[in-house]
Amino acid sequence: MAGAELIGKEELKEIEALFKTGIFARYSLDRERQGIWKVRDFEKAFAKYFGARYALGVSSGSTALKIALTALDVGPGDEVICPAFTFMATYEAVLEVGAMPVMADIDDTLNLDPDDIPNKITPRTRAIIPVHMCGAPARMDRIMKVARKHKLLVLEDNAQACGASIQGKMTGTIGRMGIFSFDHYKTITTGEGGMILTDDLDLYHRAEWYHDHGHDHLSTVSRALDGRTILGFNYRMNEIQGGIGLAQLRKLNRVLAAQRKNKTALAAMLAPIPGLKFRAVPDPEGDSATHLAFNLPTETQAKAFQKALAAEGIGTTIFKENFWHYVPNWEHFLAKSTAQTKTAFNDPRNRKVTYSRKAIPHAEDLLGRTLILGINVKMPAVRMKAIGKAIEKAAKVL
Ligand SMILES: *Cc1c(COP(=O)(O)O)cnc(C)c1O
Repeated sequence: MAGAELIGKEELKEIEALFKTGIFARYSLDRERQGIWKVRDFEKAFAKYFGARYALGVSSGSTALKIALTALDVGPGDEVICPAFTFMATYEAVLEVGAMPVMADIDDTLNLDPDDIPNKITPRTRAIIPVHMCGAPARMDRIMKVARKHKLLVLEDNAQACGASIQGKMTGTIGRMGIFSFDHYKTITTGEGGMILTDDLDLYHRAEWYHDHGHDHLSTVSRALDGRTILGFNYRMNEIQGGIGLAQLRKLNRVLAAQRKNKTALAAMLAPIPGLKFRAVPDPEGDSATHLAFNLPTETQAKAFQKALAAEGIGTTIFKENFWHYVPNWEHFLAKSTAQTKTAFNDPRNRKVTYSRKAIPHAEDLLGRTLILGINVKMPAVRMKAIGKAIEKAAKVL
């Protein structure tokens, strides 16, 4: 739950001034806004924190994916490789730009398996979207190597790992572009919102123009006098989101420190259980620690342990059974059921792409016997102690 647990007077203070000017729009109205630019300040602070050149605040993590793919000029005829374990938005965004999502397997990090990428490459493959699920990074060094070898674009879906890093590099800044989500459940939240990071000025311009009807935002007189070179749409972030984001970003280090501390304590409670293994985190220092994932030798044991933990009041998720984060469970996606009939799925020029469980053996095995526990920022000592007791009791079923 993270940032949402810490919403307080700091967020309120950031947006208070907006009620004096009455300006909630991020662009223009230069005189009326009295020098207040919340989204712009949030973008600057965000870029600085992550060591990226350019940051663009947008309306959600999902639209951030769509805007980034658009800026990268991914579209009809292109294929984009995505991991089998991700939130639906990753696949939806690929379809939104008219491209075809291609499913790849995961490895023991629970993220995109670099070794499976070459198996999924065709002459049409344009891009790869590694997703840093549940707070911890994919093996980005190896993914970038494969991408370079095959000249593929890399867009990081960092919606779930804000503040994570791998070998000193912040996730979301390793690929050509990276996106973040600030929905309620993410590490920091603005209710709804997203961010795009890139070091490439041309990509930044294309994203920035596209997300606001092509406006170049260069007129200091009036929005009506902005220049434009490309058509776009409206995916703007507003000033209230920007203000809340500024306050939340200042709490990010606190969120990460608390999650890491709580995760370490919980992992120590689980470690003695025979046969239990933790998810591989290639660089433990860079784990943003939103979740603790561990596996048992069999699905039967995992389910029994999950049930025993639930009886003690501890909820965990087995993602093989989850409706929203595992491709083989998306019955509407598998049925190619979209709002419009003319999508990449039924373009006769595209090759038939399948999403069979057989193509993702690691995901089928690992996600079936992995339990994932959400880590809160606020986990007082009494609660920790109770969880420790509950784990000890639940372990008896194994
Ligand atoms: C949440 C999420 C998104 C979408 O973000 P929204 O802000 O909710 O639109 C995209 N990808 C992943 C992996 C997510 O978890």
